[in-house]
Amino acid sequence: MERDPICHMEVSEKTALTIEYDGRTFYFCSEGCLDKFMTERSRKSLKTSYDLIIIGGGPAGLTAAVYAATLKTDAFLLARDLGGQAIDSTKIENYMGYDFITGPELVERFQYQLIHSHYMDHLMSDVEKIEPLEGGFHITTGELKKYFAKTLIITTGMTRRKLKIPGEEEYQRKGIFYGSLQDFSFVQGEDVAVIGGGNSALQVVENLHGIAKNIHIISDLKLTGDPAIIARINTFSNVQKYEEYKIIEFSGQDTLASIIIRKKAEEKTIRLPVKGAFIAIGLQPNSALVSHLLKLNEKGEIMIQPDCSTSHPGLFAAGDVTDAYGKRIIIASGEGAKAAMAARQYILNLRKNKFKEKANEY
Ligand SMILES: Cc1cc2nc3c(=O)[nH]c(=O)nc-3n(C[C@H](O)[C@H](O)[C@H](O)COP(=O)(O)OP(=O)(O)OC[C@H]3O[C@@H](n4cnc5c(N)ncnc54)[C@H](O)[C@@H]3O)c2cc1C
Repeated sequence: MERDPICHMEVSEKTALTIEYDGRTFYFCSEGCLDKFMTERSRKSLKTSYDLIIIGGGPAGLTAAVYAATLKTDAFLLARDLGGQAIDSTKIENYMGYDFITGPELVERFQYQLIHSHYMDHLMSDVEKIEPLEGGFHITTGELKKYFAKTLIITTGMTRRKLKIPGEEEYQRKGIFYGSLQDFSFVQGEDVAVIGGGNSALQVVENLHGIAKNIHIISDLKLTGDPAIIARINTFSNVQKYEEYKIIEFSGQDTLASIIIRKKAEEKTIRLPVKGAFIAIGLQPNSALVSHLLKLNEKGEIMIQPDCSTSHPGLFAAGDVTDAYGKRIIIASGEGAKAAMAARQYILNLRKNKFKEKANEY
């Protein structure tokens, strides 16, 4: 793999666009980034000020970006990765237009729309700080680059929650994993535990079925996943359900060897020998970047209005990081589209007000 020098995206040597420059080969994700490279070489600097900056590259951010591009908004996408949580979904059965598609396939289509069909300036980077200032916001990235935008759309989604119990840190990646994996071969024919009772946990169970010997599902409540997935899981003969159980401890030597659980309100503990434990107990909103600027609810989600505006003028938010009902790809995408339309209207209003102020001066 090579890295695009403009947007820092990883690109394959086989499919990337290339140019020879100063005796070196450079690889690009798209025509747009190649053009920017040539602009930078001739003018020595790249644009750092935009009408709109979108932060986050999951379904909400990518859809907001494509909408902003089709609305001809002067916009920039800043994201740690392209795809977000959707990339972890091994089986999407509820996205319109597809009876079945995997997360990576859907994200590849979203990405194609962004960098080929409707090119938008983009950079793969962490945003570390957002500061409000007169007429907009300053954004600082992990590489300490600074950008300015008149308006922002925050689509930073959610990250996985931890159990915070003994052994969890010690055996991380030594048997304990969060969510699903591409390669389960290390638990081939072994006993495993899946912790959680929602759709994410049940998808992991489906992926492990046919690979692991016995699968213990441990959930502190009754299973809460979609009835269709629960019905499929119920047909698997190698699955044991422990509903309303608590995890007490992970233990082992160099790698995970067992997990201790206890039925709620009972004292007796059970030790289950397992080679792998896959934790999928939900997610927490990545709202810390803007928590000093706007209103969050008790779950830490950004509170939004129906047009995705927040309590801070010029700051819009969309997707899983918000209090919008339903954490789904189609909902995050729809909210991203709405946010892009509302942010554009906000920019048009800023222009109109500036024009009026100027007219009043005469
Ligand atoms: C295992 C799993 C399976 C799922 N299966 C399904 C399914 O079958 N169907 C369905 O509809 N939904 C499914 N979902 C839920 C779906 O993936 C989410 O609802 C959706 O991805 C939310 O999109 P989002 O853009 O709001 O946030 P996310 O997908 O969380 O994306 C957030 C983005 O923001 C970026 N980011 C965060 N912080 C920063 C920062 N400081 N600087 C820069 N970038 C940052 C992240 O890197 C990421 O690109 C699943 C989720 C999981 C975890």
